Formats: sequence, structure tokens, C-alpha cells
Amino acid sequence: MTAQKPYDYHAFMQALEEKHPHQQDFLQAVAEVLEDVIPFINDNPQYAQHALLDQLTEPEQIVSFRVTWQDDHGDVHVNRGYRVQFNGAIGPYKGGLRFHPAVTPGMLKFLAFEQTFKNSLTGLPLGAGKGGADFDPKGRSDDEIRRFCRQFMLGLYRHIGPEQDIPAGDMGVGEREIGYLFGMYQQIVGRFEGSMSGKGLSYGGSAMRTEATGYGLIHIARRALEHHDKTLDKMSAVVSGAGNVALHAAEKLLELGVRVQTLSDTSGMIYAEAGLNQEQIDAVKRGKKAGKPLKVLADQLEVDHHADKNVWSTPCDLAFPCATQNELTEEDAKALIDNGCQLVAEGANMPSTAEAVQVLRAAELIYIPGKAANAGGVAVSGLEMAQNASHLSWSREELAQRLESIMHDIHDRCVEYGSSDKANDSAARGVDYVKGANLAGFIKVADAMLAAGF
Ligand code: GLU
Repeated sequence: MTAQKPYDYHAFMQALEEKHPHQQDFLQAVAEVLEDVIPFINDNPQYAQHALLDQLTEPEQIVSFRVTWQDDHGDVHVNRGYRVQFNGAIGPYKGGLRFHPAVTPGMLKFLAFEQTFKNSLTGLPLGAGKGGADFDPKGRSDDEIRRFCRQFMLGLYRHIGPEQDIPAGDMGVGEREIGYLFGMYQQIVGRFEGSMSGKGLSYGGSAMRTEATGYGLIHIARRALEHHDKTLDKMSAVVSGAGNVALHAAEKLLELGVRVQTLSDTSGMIYAEAGLNQEQIDAVKRGKKAGKPLKVLADQLEVDHHADKNVWSTPCDLAFPCATQNELTEEDAKALIDNGCQLVAEGANMPSTAEAVQVLRAAELIYIPGKAANAGGVAVSGLEMAQNASHLSWSREELAQRLESIMHDIHDRCVEYGSSDKANDSAARGVDYVKGANLAGFIKVADAMLAAGF
């Protein structure tokens, strides 16, 4: 193998921009990783061979397929379905499916690229992929969702399998959709096998999978606070989003004695001065399942609703962006810091803009990026695969304990690779969790790619 010249960050990013024009989310995700990985490679020339970075930033396969389906009025619609199989060096492709009108190949490439590092951090043998469709599930009847899912699987089934690619849920794809997708897969291939995760408990799903991303987020936040001699108890938190991740994060925070003051969705945010209680969180769970926005639920919950404010201007000790990408701007990051926020941990994928990330990394607070903080979901998906492969189901207690220990290990790996002795590094007690996650995630995948002769 011939060694290459040292990588130049700006030159590499410029070439990448030309190769992937207008795919801003993807370029942002790559830029964020390479800022740490390129200096590391230049110090560790064994990784500067075989065009490793060029390989790591190019998906192995992208499949795109037509999804033709009929609505309740008999009208026919055509959507685009995709699966981006990004990196299979450490295991079969693994990652969720997103149904959202804004889905594009660029968005899925960003998500699948992030997934590469996230899955590596879990310590489980999981490659990375992501898929979905530009389908808008909002306002669609149950029957329409079922028909769409079945047609979507008709395009996808030949590309997935328990040793090949194992999709799960993401935005717009929850347990109901997984049920319909998996049911169709089963009927097409004529086998019952673990080709999807996030399944219902009665048909091969894993205990704790639904809760895993939100609970895992709080486990890592707690571990990071402890590492900095702090405790969660009696702190106040703002959470954005009102989906599966946000609500389970809120629930775990409440259990640990934290006041969760906000949730949000596209209709605005709700604010509860004394913190939300379990009945209110359950009511949001039920209401969102029935398609009701927070604006409609606020009265019943007896909380304030603000249509034109976001949660980040609320003074808090802890902040958990759990809604969507680029929801937290530079201005929001500064507002959090000015208000004395001590920790930001990301439940969503890349919820902070590139400018916000710079501000958060430079600040005296603990900032845990999504690829580390929200890895609990895919980790329990990995455990679901292990249960399916062994035809067993583990108990809720066993899974809860494994999830917690995986999140602690991720934390500790971030500390191992992200501790800095730079005099001017103002990151909380010298731990740069972004750098730690990027490097720890990278090294395992890079070693596997080199060992495989890719
Ligand atoms: N969509 C989730 C994520 O962003 C979970 C993926 C999975 O369980 O495969 O990690």
C-alpha cells in the first residue's frame, strides 16, 4: 500500500462539495467529522493510505425505487423510496427509515454517514445505512399508511435481510409502520427472520427498544455530569420535540428528579413552570399518536403554549434537542450559554447548526453530539438482532441494564479520545465529546476497512 500525502481539510471539503453539489446536510455532517479526523490521520499515517477518507465519504450503494400507492379516494400517487447503504465494514448495514416530504438522497446520505460513527460507537457489529421516502404521513389514514408501507417494501425487500441490511424506524416510521413493513417482507420472502428492528413485542421485537433512544440519552448525560462531579437531581431541563425520543427522554428525566419544562412541535412549544408530570407526558404520547399538535393539547395539559417561540430561550440547567436536524442555531446556543446551561446532549441527529456546534464546543459546558448521545436506539436494535438470531427474548431488566452499560461505555470512549491537554481548550474539564465521538467512531471502522483490504 502506498502512503498518501497529508490530507488538507479545506481541499478535501472543496473536492467533496464538487462531488456532492447542493447536499448541504451531508457536507455539514462530513465537515464536522473531518475537522477532527483529518488532523488525527495526519498524525497517524497508517490511516493515510488506500484513499480511506475518500472511501469513508462515499456510500457503498444507494438504491432508489418507485413507490406507487393508492389513497382512500382511489387516487394513485407516486413517491420515491431510497436505501443508502453507507458502510458495511463492521457489520451489516443498520439504520432507520424516514418518511417525510423533505427526504432526499442528500439528507439520507447525511444520516447514514452519521450512523457509521454512531453504530461504531455502540461497540456492536453494526454497519451503517439509512433509507426512507419523500412521503408525507401527516393526515393519512391508517389504511393509507398500510398501503404505502406495503408498496414501499415491494421496492425495498430485495436489498435487505438479517445478514445484509436491517432497517428500523426514524421520523415518520414507528411501531405501526414497522409492523406493516415487516409483515409485507415476511409475505414476500416467505420467511420469518430478523430483517427489521423496532418490531412489536409479539413478533420478535425487543423490550426497551421504544424507550432506548430517549432513556439512553439521559444515561449518557448523567454519566457526563457525574464525570464532572455534578448530579442531575433537582436540575431543570428543556426538551425540544414531542416524538418518541423527546417523550422518553422527558420521562427518564422526570424519574431522576429533573424538572422538564418544555416540549415542542411544528405548532410551537409548551412550557410548564413546575415541570411536566407523568400524566402530562402520557397525555402527550396519546395525543401525538392521534395526530394532535401541542397547540391543541396545551389546554387539556393546563400548560402555556407559545406558537412563535422556541425552547432554547428558556433558562435551564440541561438542554436536549430531540426534534430534527439544524433546529438549534448559533443564536440559540448563545442564549443557552448566557442563561447558564450546563449540558447540551443531542437526542436528534445533527440538531445543532455548524455555527452552533462551534459555539457549544468552545463554551464551558458539556456538549454531547448526537452520534454519541442518541446511540441507545440503534444499540438496542443491535440487541434485537442478537435476540432474533438466537431465537430468544431477553427480559426488560436485562435490556435496561445492557443499554445503560453501553451508554456508559460510549461516554467513557468519548472521554478517552476526547480528553485534551491543549492549554486553550475550554471544553468542560478538558473533555471534547465531539472529538472523542468522532475519533472513537472512526478508528474502529477505519481499522476494519484496512484489515479487509478495501
Ligand atoms: N433511526 C435511529 C437512529 O437514528 C435508529 C436506527 C436503528 O435502530 O437502526 O439511530
